[in-house]
This record gives sequence, C-alpha cells and structure tokens, in this order.
Amino acid sequence: MRLVLLGAPGAGKGTQAKKLIDKYGTPQISTGDILRAAVAEGTPLGKEAKAVMDKGELVPDSVVLGLVEERLQQDDCKKGYILDGFPRNTAQAEALDGILDKLGMGLSAAISVDVPSEDLMKRLTGRRTCKGCGQMYNVHFSAPAKEGTCDKCSGELYQRDDDREETIKKRLEVYEAQTAPLIDYYGNKGILKSVAGTGSIDEIFEKMCASIG
Ligand code: AMP
Repeated sequence: MRLVLLGAPGAGKGTQAKKLIDKYGTPQISTGDILRAAVAEGTPLGKEAKAVMDKGELVPDSVVLGLVEERLQQDDCKKGYILDGFPRNTAQAEALDGILDKLGMGLSAAISVDVPSEDLMKRLTGRRTCKGCGQMYNVHFSAPAKEGTCDKCSGELYQRDDDREETIKKRLEVYEAQTAPLIDYYGNKGILKSVAGTGSIDEIFEKMCASIG
C-alpha cells in the first residue's frame, strides 16, 4: 500500500498513520518527524529548519524532497509507505510523481482527512506527544491517566514548539493557501479518497480502512 495522507495540521494524520503501520506494516514517512529529529540532534539542517518551523512556514522544497527521496529508497519501503505531511504544495507533489516514477513505486491512493476548521485549534493546542515512544494524546479529548506521563511507556509528554496559538494560525493559513489545492491535484488523478476526520480515533480509522478497500 502506497499512500499519501492529506489534511490540515491537527486533522489526525499522524495518529491515523500510526494505526495504519500497526495494521499494514508499512512505514510512515513524516517529513515533520524527520525535521524535528534533525532539530533535536542540532544538525545544520535542523538549525536551518527550526527557524522556519517556529514561524509556521514551509521548509524549502529542495530540502524535504532530498529527505523523502533518500527515505523512499530504504528497504522497508519496498512493501509500501505512508507519506504524512508530504507533499505540502503542488511543486512537491509534481516532484514526488517524478521520484516515484523513477523508483517504480507509484501511489495507490491519497487520503484526505477532513476536519472542520473550527475544531483544529483545540486539537492542536491540546496535543501532547511522548518523548519515549511517540504516542500522541490530547489534553481535551484523550488525556493520559497521569498528567504529563505516557500511559504506554511512562515517558515524558511534551508539547511541540509550533503548537502555540500564533504559530498555529500561520500553519493553518499556509495549509489553506499551499496544501489544500493538493486535494484537487489528486482528485484529478483519480486516486483521491476523502474521509471525515470527526468521531473517535477508531471510527475514523475504520472509515479510512474502508476507503482503502
Ligand atoms: P508537521 O509535523 O507535518 O505538522 O510539520 C511541522 C513543520 O515542519 C511544518 O509547519 C513545516 O515547517 C515543516 N514541514 C513538514 N513537512 C514539510 C514539507 N513537506 N514541506 C515543507 N515543510 C515541511
């Protein structure tokens, strides 16, 4: 299964991607996660990316394209992949088509997770992630049993630097202007599936699996 997950920040792409990995065994390629890892390691790429990410803007296409092309060539992607947070604009989508053609691993589907814009702010400000295992929580909807601690591995939970209100506003603007047009891009290719991203995490996941068929 070779998928692109589309959806606004806070739509639940990462949460659903993790469930898809468990079910189908395909790796998740999240450009946001790769960039955050580079920031945490303090690499030159991380230092450059952090300033852009903290403003809620997009890291240059050439940077993310290089990361994705390299990642897609790793062995585990032979059985498929789930692209999460990439592509983010039409130039990235066109470049991805070229890379996938070259590698002979074209997309099975692009799934758009649709969430009303008024719900996104609460989802993003409430989001917390485990430093240890990456499990995600939301203090409003799916809080851990003990505040600040992961139910699964007892790791410490953290809030992303870009999940602050001002940065979120910018990220949502960038999504509308640059990423939302990809819904038509994949619609025109005939591979778009749309799933309502409302309801419980498991309900959304069921709809997602049904859309994949
Ligand atoms: P995400 O975790 O997908 O919400 O991404 C967090 C931030 O990383 C974004 O706001 C961008 O600054 C950067 N980023 C992630 N993916 C991309 C991408 N495909 N193109 C450009 N910037 C990206």
